Amino acid sequence: MLDLAFDTPKPKVISGAKHDWELVIGLEVHAQVASKAKLFSGASTRFGAEPNSNVAFVDAGMPGMLPVINEGCVALAVKTGLGLNAQINLKSAFDRKNYFYPDLPQGYQISQLYHPIVGEGEVLVEMGPGIARLVRIERIHLEQDAGKSIHDMDPDMSFVDLNRTGVALMEIVSRPDIRGPEEAAAFVVKLRQILRYLGTCDGNMQNGNMRADVNVSVCRPGDYERYQESQDFAHLGTRCEIKNMNSMRFIQQAIDVEARRQIAILEDGGSILQETRLYDPDKGETRSMRSKEEAHDYRYFPCPDLLPLEIEQGFVDDIAASLPELPDAKKARFVTEFGMTEYDASVLTADVDNAAYFEQVAKGHDGKLAANWVINELFGRLKKDDLSIGESPVSPEQLGGIVGLIASGDISGKIAKDLFEIVYTTGGDPAEIVEKRGMKQVTDTGEIEAAVDRIIAENPAQVEKAKQNPKLAGWFVGQVMKATGGKANPAVVNQMVSAKLEL
Ligand code: ADP
Ligand code: MG
Repeated sequence: MLDLAFDTPKPKVISGAKHDWELVIGLEVHAQVASKAKLFSGASTRFGAEPNSNVAFVDAGMPGMLPVINEGCVALAVKTGLGLNAQINLKSAFDRKNYFYPDLPQGYQISQLYHPIVGEGEVLVEMGPGIARLVRIERIHLEQDAGKSIHDMDPDMSFVDLNRTGVALMEIVSRPDIRGPEEAAAFVVKLRQILRYLGTCDGNMQNGNMRADVNVSVCRPGDYERYQESQDFAHLGTRCEIKNMNSMRFIQQAIDVEARRQIAILEDGGSILQETRLYDPDKGETRSMRSKEEAHDYRYFPCPDLLPLEIEQGFVDDIAASLPELPDAKKARFVTEFGMTEYDASVLTADVDNAAYFEQVAKGHDGKLAANWVINELFGRLKKDDLSIGESPVSPEQLGGIVGLIASGDISGKIAKDLFEIVYTTGGDPAEIVEKRGMKQVTDTGEIEAAVDRIIAENPAQVEKAKQNPKLAGWFVGQVMKATGGKANPAVVNQMVSAKLEL
């Protein structure tokens, strides 16, 4: 169990025409395993390949072909389980889930209904400073993805692309512990963050590498607490499942719309039909897709082509020993090691690549200053050009160089911004640029003193004012900075102006 020094957030309450209602949400997240080969074949999983070019005979459902389990996918599923503090099942098994669909040539999907590889785990979802929801994970199972039917390429025909067929997915199923739209989105964000840290799924929702089925029900205040005490689902309302959501915004909208639909029905004396629905973002409504199917509808049975999957404790232990530092731990370490705020630590650890970049910048430099420059200057600049951290024209070494020059007093903060822009657009070694372009901060007190003396002599009226109101000394500092082209050391200027004005 995680150490919980958090308050739990309040559930989302929606006021109907008659009563208040609370939301109850459980998510089934499909995460594509970050494997180069499919779950039961050696075909490539590369995104964007020529249609039907990544298809082995077994993926195409050719008669007599046998699936062979990909050990790499098993290892990544175990790693994911360990990253979610979950129980790893040394024995699991694959089942056939039978259904007909043109993009499913086998006529069944191989999945793990009865004996999943990963059991109970948990995800801590922070909703604000000191406020977090602990969402229980029920299970993670490995399964095959289906192919893709394409209906919009020809007016008379549909096409099928089997490149995705047989790609390994992890279905990560939460308990109904999520209590509002924002929490649901935050849960997916946190899950994606952890998977990206682990390197078990790239979390790319645009490419469909991560998508969620969202289960929503509503209940009256007090009912959820009764469910918590007894774990008896009878205290909860009937749920509907909204399929295949692939954006945080749509997840939130769909939950809100669906909850309101259910409330209206219930307050009207009706009852909720358990079914699978689709969210239509254009119309802002959910529509019925099919009534809820049961396990027997799919005629699940153990896949006769595959032996039960047995893994050894040593296999699990090796993976456990290789787990990277995870987001919560990294965030806490950034706060203590670099003395940065919780907020800055959250920003820097939100993405594993950002965190790694920052740590390289901070190597041998002031961590707080480095954090400041990464967050305010670099992230801002990259965002303007719509670049990812991996595409940054400024390397961590270069940014570290700039931070080092500021810390040593070689350049002022203002000049550093100019320097950053030069490095960003034209590259080069920051120290060399400063040297060549004469950007060094003037700490030579003689030169600064001359400027201070001159400006004081030229502005007797300002001197009088400043003596009455010492705050006005800032004007002199500004003038000296201007006179020295922004290169004077502000601390030295400040000190000297105060001394000369006898403030
Ligand atoms: P099924 O096998 O029919 O899909 P599961 O037990 O696997 O049913 O549940 C699927 C998802 O629905 C899980 O994420 C679970 O947390 C969620 N869920 C179950 N009951 C409710 C409920 N009353 N309200 C909201 N979500 C629920
Ligand atoms: Mg399910």
